[in-house]
Amino acid sequence: MKPYILVVEDEPPIQDLLSYNLESSGFEVAQAFDGEEALVAIAERLPDLVLLDWMLPHLSGIEVCRRLRRRPPTHRLPIIILTARTEEPDRLRGLDTGADDFIVKPFSVAEVIARTRAVLRRVRPAIDEPELEVGELKIDLGAHRVFRAGREVHLSPTEFRLLRHLMEHPGRVFSRAALLDAVWGINQEVELRTVDATVRRLRRALNAGGGADLLRTVRAEGYALQRPPQDADARPVDVGDAAG
Ligand code: CA
Repeated sequence: MKPYILVVEDEPPIQDLLSYNLESSGFEVAQAFDGEEALVAIAERLPDLVLLDWMLPHLSGIEVCRRLRRRPPTHRLPIIILTARTEEPDRLRGLDTGADDFIVKPFSVAEVIARTRAVLRRVRPAIDEPELEVGELKIDLGAHRVFRAGREVHLSPTEFRLLRHLMEHPGRVFSRAALLDAVWGINQEVELRTVDATVRRLRRALNAGGGADLLRTVRAEGYALQRPPQDADARPVDVGDAAG
């Protein structure tokens, strides 16, 4: 089952950026735009984790957090608070908010997703790893299995890591050097043409059952996973500086 995340953020662009990317990363997402709405939504259905903006109209994120901590069933509900840089995260950590983690704006979406997974793992070690789904492609992260339109695709561990990285950022173009860092690790002595060879093998494996080529080669730039057609008008997912 997909972990269910409530995103509480009053600024629509940041709200949508978070929700869109969490959904593409295999989470089920609900939105609340102020503190009261968040408390109502949580009372209706208990989320697995709350991403909670500090600066909300009427009821601040900290106050929401304190109220949730006061009584069951929400006194252990995992909460990550989003704060603007000016709010001094070190000072916030000292406050008795009961939050599990803080993320400082501007944040990268990848960081939010990584921290969300980390908190979920810490508080619920048994939680299923989410599935990652982009268009016809689906990765079962727990079982390390890949499917395209229901057909299983067999990949080497490196091909799997490469595909996972591309699927976490559909549509984004990565240079070969960036892929090298992300998939092989920055300390690995690997040549750039190894990236080309691995992309070639991954492409062959993904396309073996027919269908459109899902990997895009961008001349002199690098590689990207094709964004599924229904997402074509969506905002770019690689907005790294969601300030506010
Ligand atoms: Ca706000």
